[in-house]
Amino acid sequence: MINPSHIEHIGIAVKDLETAISYYEKIIGVKCYKKEEVKDQKVVTAFFKVGEVKIELLEATDPGSPIAKFIEKRGEGIHHIAFATNNLEENLKDLESKEVNLIDKKPRKGAENMDIAFIHPKSTFGVLTELCQPRKKG
Ligand code: ZN
Repeated sequence: MINPSHIEHIGIAVKDLETAISYYEKIIGVKCYKKEEVKDQKVVTAFFKVGEVKIELLEATDPGSPIAKFIEKRGEGIHHIAFATNNLEENLKDLESKEVNLIDKKPRKGAENMDIAFIHPKSTFGVLTELCQPRKKG
């Protein structure tokens, strides 16, 4: 079991980050507190806090980015849901032993100083699922 402490964030794929940021700031009324490029994933992200849960907007920086491919296939919209965990490596081993279809068998670097790993939507009723844990120093 993952036993997440909370939903860490909801990831939303957008074509144009600035336009989407403006919507969240002016219509929803939440402030973008950080923009960050994640080279590994070929995306630039923008973050908002709504209570404990964050919204993560994702814009592709390259046509080969998973976000570009997602938008091409399905259009803009909810891309993934992320659960906060304190046992990422153990979770991945456990999920693998239960034959859950993992995109990442080992943690990799995400935005916000998080180690992250994705579970394939085939195993999660169609929802791309991210597990994330604050990166340990050192
Ligand atoms: Zn995410």
